[in-house]
Amino acid sequence: MNAVPRSLPAPRDGRTKEQSMVKSGTILLTGVAGFIGSHLAERLLEQGEEVVGLDLFDDFYDPRIKEGNLTRAREHDRFTLVRGDIRDRGLLAGLPGSIDTVIHLAARAGVRPSIEDPVLYADVNIQGTAALLEFARRREVPTFLFASSSSVYGNNERVPFHEDDRVDHPISPYAATKKAGELLCHTATHLDGITCVALRFFTVYGPRQRPDLAIHKFARLLASGEKIPMYGDGSTERDYTYIDDILQGVEGALRYGRGRTGGFQIFNLGESRTIRLSEMIQVLAEEMELTPRIRRLPAQPGDVLRTYADITRARELLGYRPVVGFREGIRSFLQWFEHQPGNLGAPR
Ligand code: NAD
Repeated sequence: MNAVPRSLPAPRDGRTKEQSMVKSGTILLTGVAGFIGSHLAERLLEQGEEVVGLDLFDDFYDPRIKEGNLTRAREHDRFTLVRGDIRDRGLLAGLPGSIDTVIHLAARAGVRPSIEDPVLYADVNIQGTAALLEFARRREVPTFLFASSSSVYGNNERVPFHEDDRVDHPISPYAATKKAGELLCHTATHLDGITCVALRFFTVYGPRQRPDLAIHKFARLLASGEKIPMYGDGSTERDYTYIDDILQGVEGALRYGRGRTGGFQIFNLGESRTIRLSEMIQVLAEEMELTPRIRRLPAQPGDVLRTYADITRARELLGYRPVVGFREGIRSFLQWFEHQPGNLGAPR
């Protein structure tokens, strides 16, 4: 994290000393302490970028996990951490100058919990995105990357999902908030000339995966000898995308966005292959050398039947080339998982 010399005089504009140290060409990365954000921060810092990371450390899952996620990023002197809420417009206004790109990952994630509390999801994901776009407009930030989701496709019957498919039939509040975020980005491009890139992530997994997501949750249950809840008959399919491949796609999108003046574009970031739920459980159990015990439950509202990305556009315009096979990715996840303290796994 940025070390601030003791002799530095306090800035007079209300910013902290730490904030005043930030140099030009800085990336504002929201949701920096989360699963994807913390990996992305490390990658950007390794490439010489200046990163201001913003995160609320909310309790969707244990904030101690998020503190741990940032251990490596904080070793860089080009990293500044700001603790706060993306909806806090006063805080945004006080962020350090010369931000040339916003990468907006902060959100209430998760399909099923959004059904329990749609108002909170709309508040964080829609109001928060609007506040950040307003920040970008006021500060003349030219480039804005937005973390959208494959969930916007709902139960789209045409596969693989293409960016030009109609996405006006979301089946969860979470999906609706992501679609709303894309619309707000489009509007900001139209009105303010901001180059906006919406990235539709397809079920991301790997080290630090959120503890509420299936692979991580099932690994925890397998390790403790408990039954795995399988919703439906196991035939639902997901395009599981390894975190390193997602990072490669975000890097491509960053180059793409910075290289343009204006314009709105959407990219699918998936592996463009599907794995059935039953197969996912089988591969995970095989790699853990355990026999899974399954508890079958009815299909859950909000869960789509399948996700499957057409990645032609990302291949052509971003040079995106996902390379990590599913079993290989599961092995990397397990190498990390086996070193996690048992008491920090469960979501709250
Ligand atoms: P995560 O929950 O691990 O990270 C999100 C971070 O945002 C958390 O650290 C949280 O504290 C922070 N945050 C939440 N509300 C905030 C607020 N009001 N102000 C500031 N920070 C706030 O989730 P993730 O899996 O890393 O997902 C990152 C982004 O990617 C999210 O926008 C998510 O919707 C999207 N996405 C993720 C996946 C996936 O499979 N993980 C798939 C599709 C889309």
